[in-house]
Amino acid sequence: MTQIREKVDVCVVGAGHAGCEAALACARMGLETVIFTVSVDSIALMPCNPNIGGSSKGHLVREIDALGGEMGKNIDKTFIQSKMLNLSKGPAVHSLRAQADKAEYTRSMRKVLENQEHLIIKQAEVCELLAEEIPGTEDENGICRKKITGVKIFTGAVYEAKAVILCTGTYLNARCLCGEAITHTGPNGLQAANYLTDSLKNLGVSMRRFKTGTPARMDRRSIDFSRMEEQFGDEKVVPFSFSTNPEDVQIRQDSCWLTYTNEKTHEIIRSNLDRSPIYAGIIEGTGPRYCPSIEDKVVKFADKERHQVFLEPEGRHTNEMYVGGMSSSLPEDVQLAMYRTVPGLEHCRIVRNAYAIEYDCIDAGQLYPTLEFKKIDGLFSAGQFNGSSGYEEAAAQGILAGINAGRKCQQKEPFVIDRSEGYLGVLVDDLVTKENFEPYRMMTSRAEYRLLLRQDNADIRLRRKGYEAGLVSEEQMQHLIQKEEMIAQEIRRLQKVVIGASAANQAFLEKHGSNLLKTGATLAELMCRPELSYEVLAEIDPDRKPVPEEVLEQVEIEIKYQGYIERQQRQVEQFKKMEKKKIPESINYDDIPSLRLEARQKLKQFRPVSVGQASRISGVSPADISVLLVYLEQLAYHRGEKQA
Ligand SMILES: Cc1cc2nc3c(=O)[nH]c(=O)nc-3n(C[C@H](O)[C@H](O)[C@H](O)COP(=O)(O)OP(=O)(O)OC[C@H]3O[C@@H](n4cnc5c(N)ncnc54)[C@H](O)[C@@H]3O)c2cc1C
Repeated sequence: MTQIREKVDVCVVGAGHAGCEAALACARMGLETVIFTVSVDSIALMPCNPNIGGSSKGHLVREIDALGGEMGKNIDKTFIQSKMLNLSKGPAVHSLRAQADKAEYTRSMRKVLENQEHLIIKQAEVCELLAEEIPGTEDENGICRKKITGVKIFTGAVYEAKAVILCTGTYLNARCLCGEAITHTGPNGLQAANYLTDSLKNLGVSMRRFKTGTPARMDRRSIDFSRMEEQFGDEKVVPFSFSTNPEDVQIRQDSCWLTYTNEKTHEIIRSNLDRSPIYAGIIEGTGPRYCPSIEDKVVKFADKERHQVFLEPEGRHTNEMYVGGMSSSLPEDVQLAMYRTVPGLEHCRIVRNAYAIEYDCIDAGQLYPTLEFKKIDGLFSAGQFNGSSGYEEAAAQGILAGINAGRKCQQKEPFVIDRSEGYLGVLVDDLVTKENFEPYRMMTSRAEYRLLLRQDNADIRLRRKGYEAGLVSEEQMQHLIQKEEMIAQEIRRLQKVVIGASAANQAFLEKHGSNLLKTGATLAELMCRPELSYEVLAEIDPDRKPVPEEVLEQVEIEIKYQGYIERQQRQVEQFKKMEKKKIPESINYDDIPSLRLEARQKLKQFRPVSVGQASRISGVSPADISVLLVYLEQLAYHRGEKQA
């Protein structure tokens, strides 16, 4: 019996949050795509927190949606509570977060994949990557670049492909630790993937080991909610997807609950640290600083009397409750004792123990900003495998890797989003340019142009790019163009309409505690006053025509933050200038004697594609960048690309 041999355009290894977006992008670009997973029942599984979005992560979901991705639509169909965070702060940090019905989220995403043209789903472990050497591409160590040709699965079947996207998440050589109890499984007891790491090493890929952790799940019948603070969703829900009709998300919402640890909890943890795989040194992998276990919180923030604990429903059709803020890998008996010190959990029953998981992943410095491997043509990767952490970070990389694998197959130009265009650009640039020694989690503080990269204008920033990639429909584009026209028109109108210092207008201003007018002012000028919003000004703006809420939101922000926005746009112009200064792939940094040794080593290691990217590599100083700029000028001159 001969082994099965299939021919496709793209193989996607993994059907987690990265794999789903990558596979849908390729199939929607018309490419024959196969997506592999160790278990079809775990498509888009949420093995940790039951929510999508939150600070900066909500921005990523909106950007995925603007590009034509699925996560935003999927959570709009399966959420059970929704909240806009940080409303007391400026629009740059407003961020949507929705609690998901996990089972529904998986079921709904699976349905989308199962009904996607050009896409086939295969439950199988991919064990080997197939590649061939590209003659004449030897590097200084005589090692040839390679070209991916396909994958081999556990049964020995071969899938030939022009591109392969690795989205293996937390499964490669996965190990789960709950105190002394260790299992060699993936999350939720699913099968781990134990062969691919060796195949990657054989192709010259350097691997590393990270870890993350999750809290216990409790039986809600064993919880006393009267001892906790109920947390409600927003009265008026805002959808994640720009394509979702806001009326469709005004649903009955479930509550979450807030309680706190206390000194008793902390004492139990402190007196059992020797049994913690983290503190006993059993865990090899590096964990995320920004998602600390309760052990880490008690040790690192010893001065804190209590830590917040959120009880979050895992879904509508289950009694399981997620204990947010108390992830741990302490032994089961210690877990039960520590959880039962928390108000409301005195009689709790654990359905699933908390645990930590270790897994193999890569240093993403081996990738281009397209998420393609620098030394293996046609091999791309996305998600936790690239050293990030979080559903949203994974999905964002997934759609970018999918678009680029698709364009590679179609021999089209690479598709890159830079730091000034989106949080997705910040995420990928940080992963492939900076040295990350722990799982990378997105935060608003990482985005230098965050006033421009708001979650509310993701469509204006990225829809055209999604359209160019073939993932956004004509209808969606027309909707955007009309929206932009309405925004511009209304801003022009507000900048033209002059409000005189009449008694009625002065009385209006007095009523709203606003300074009286000495001479006329435009509505736009008045709107810059913190106490006067677009809504409030309706009283003295009788000619106004109704505009859609999504237009109103943009008009208000553009006018109120005009000065700050313009300043950031000027900074972006400077940034773009350096990004445009490309560095030839063939450059030999040993030919630039005045480069400092550390900078030469880092530039040879990262091989940045532009001077802008080079300037963000740690160990490359502004002086090194000046040396590099002079060298590139000379190179261009000798190549006759520049006049003296
Ligand atoms: C225990 C735990 C705790 C976590 N805690 C946090 C946290 O606190 N904060 C946070 O932000 N994120 C956390 N996460 C991470 C979050 O789950 C991931 O970021 C997210 O799921 C990553 O998505 P992904 O698509 O990269 O990979 P995953 O969702 O892990 O999906 C990987 C997919 O690859 C498939 N696969 C893997 N190898 C193979 C192979 N060889 N052949 C075929 N299929 C394969 C699997 O079947 C699966 O479909 C946690 C995850 C776990 C497991």
